[in-house]
Amino acid sequence: MTDQLEPMPEDWRRALAIVAHPDDLEYGCASAVAVWTAAGREVAYVLATRGEAGIDTMEPAEAGPVREREQRAGAAVAGVTEVEFLDHRDGVIEYGVALRRDMAAAIRRHRPELVITLNHEDTWGGGTHWNTPDHRAVGRAVMDAVADAGNRWIFPDIEAEPWNGVRYVAVAGTDTPTHAVDVTTGLERGVRSLLEHRAYIEALTDEDPETYVRTFVEGIARDQAARFGGRPAVTFRLFSR
Ligand SMILES: [Zn+2]
Repeated sequence: MTDQLEPMPEDWRRALAIVAHPDDLEYGCASAVAVWTAAGREVAYVLATRGEAGIDTMEPAEAGPVREREQRAGAAVAGVTEVEFLDHRDGVIEYGVALRRDMAAAIRRHRPELVITLNHEDTWGGGTHWNTPDHRAVGRAVMDAVADAGNRWIFPDIEAEPWNGVRYVAVAGTDTPTHAVDVTTGLERGVRSLLEHRAYIEALTDEDPETYVRTFVEGIARDQAARFGGRPAVTFRLFSR
């Protein structure tokens, strides 16, 4: 018997997902977002970059706008209309006070009860893959900025009022999840959400894009089912405050 994951808390209304790149949320998490928005919850996305260095065959100046369009379309499929880009340079984001300030400002603007970010540990995939520097920097800065956002004496120059209402921080894509969302009703929108990143995927693989995204999104949800009562699941490591 595998250790069972806890269901994600339900006592929140607004969530803010902050990640480094277009597609970071669509590789799995979007199925959970689709479940939440269908239930009337508000979810907004903040992207640190436009992912302009993500397509080998396309110059960044061309790729940035393409990836922004694909991100907005992918978000809309999951019921998310509010998508912001912070215009950090893709691939060379540095962890530090300036990044924490940007993240704290985003949290103060959106005033979420739940903050979502992506795995920022050194590795992913059971320790088999080295994580990217952008994921490490952005994830750490988000974790730190949750407290910064609530402290009026840290970053007092941010225009938006301090916000100390974040109750949970959920890290997606981690090897050490604690909680899960049953995505039975969100999986199809999760698949179509990732499929909106078509230019990115076509450059990434020779496989048919729909086959590729369906295999990936449905596969990871099924892989987690054994730890969540047999239901297809998106998993998170949850931090309460
Ligand atoms: Zn990424």
